Amino acid sequence: MNKDIRNLSDRIEAVFPKMVQLRREFHQAPELSFHEEKTPARVAEILQALGLKVRTKVGGRGVVAVLEGGKPGRTVALRADMDALPIQDEKVCDYRSKVPGVMHACGHDGHTAALLGVAEILAGMREDIAGRFVLLFQHAEELVPGGAQEMIADNALDGVDAIYGVHLWTPFPYGVVGLRAGTLMAAADSFRIEVIGKGGHGGLPHKTTDAIVIASHLIVNLQSIISRQVDPLQSGVISVGHINGGQAFNVIAERCTIEGTVRSFDQEVRQFIKQQMERVIEQTCQMYGAQFELKYGWGYPPVVNDSSETTRMAAMARRIVGDDNVWEIPPLMTGEDFSYYLQKVPGCFAMVGAGNEEKGFIYPHHHPHFDFDERVMKTAAELLIRSGLGYLSADSPEVTVGNLYR
Ligand SMILES: [Zn+2]
Ligand SMILES: [Zn+2]
Repeated sequence: MNKDIRNLSDRIEAVFPKMVQLRREFHQAPELSFHEEKTPARVAEILQALGLKVRTKVGGRGVVAVLEGGKPGRTVALRADMDALPIQDEKVCDYRSKVPGVMHACGHDGHTAALLGVAEILAGMREDIAGRFVLLFQHAEELVPGGAQEMIADNALDGVDAIYGVHLWTPFPYGVVGLRAGTLMAAADSFRIEVIGKGGHGGLPHKTTDAIVIASHLIVNLQSIISRQVDPLQSGVISVGHINGGQAFNVIAERCTIEGTVRSFDQEVRQFIKQQMERVIEQTCQMYGAQFELKYGWGYPPVVNDSSETTRMAAMARRIVGDDNVWEIPPLMTGEDFSYYLQKVPGCFAMVGAGNEEKGFIYPHHHPHFDFDERVMKTAAELLIRSGLGYLSADSPEVTVGNLYR
């Protein structure tokens, strides 16, 4: 087995062109959350050709492949997500999205291609593996309630002892791996507020209740919750990302809708922010004599990494990118439904640097110009393989020496 792991970089180099080809294939044919059809079908086809036991339509649209090692042992899961976003691809390159208004702007195409590469490599060393790999290709990460819960409900984690996952991450340069024990990512909630006033003539405001003016006050007042109500040593975010009201320049709007997101790391802070929002919305609307409707959407819980598994993954990352390039990072305000897996089994989720200024991969995730350094798929694949094999062999001396961060 050691010999095989020593050859791992060669094996990864050998499948890298295929990963790039698959990534670009997925990139050109992105599918929205809960609408994945061709992607899971293609994934299943590739996994079946590798001789893995494949189950499709798991939890709706997910694919689960089981790779039985040649020797008995524990079971480790690796996860990739497959969905794209409702964003128009504005990049100029020959593999840009061919689907108007839909784009792989988060790198899930890279996750899927990298895990397919992992499948091929593991299939080639099957006899030496003591235990079992469960490869989870998840649908609908980007849209609450998400595919993870559905796949778990459909037994995707049955028999699984530990899980690892990665996210390609352009805010970090290629060659870096960022992770942390404990809370890595925020709880991500959403809200929609409809302010209901009384419409009328733009020249006769005294006869109306101007929903746009009230919504404007509301947006400003909501900002004071984080800055003035939440303990400064705690943290949270309230962001309004969408506002819609009115039809014509000289008509006072009867209704105005505000939509946004709330991020937090702590369950108590999460509850508190929601309570304060209700108070601010109610009292702001009352002050101007308007009604309102609030829809608060509880999103994914925080991503909480297991400390031993984080130590293991950090140790593996150091072998791949070197000591100085494994960063212990502060928690991120993004959300991920990988959190649901981590509620069931211990594991770790890591951010793998995918940015490259020289090559122009400088755009954040969910940006219409988003793209990443494709070499990151090699780092991702190697990190997943090493973490999984490290768990199954469970004899890595590194994991017993405590904290391995620098
Ligand atoms: Zn995303
Ligand atoms: Zn993502």
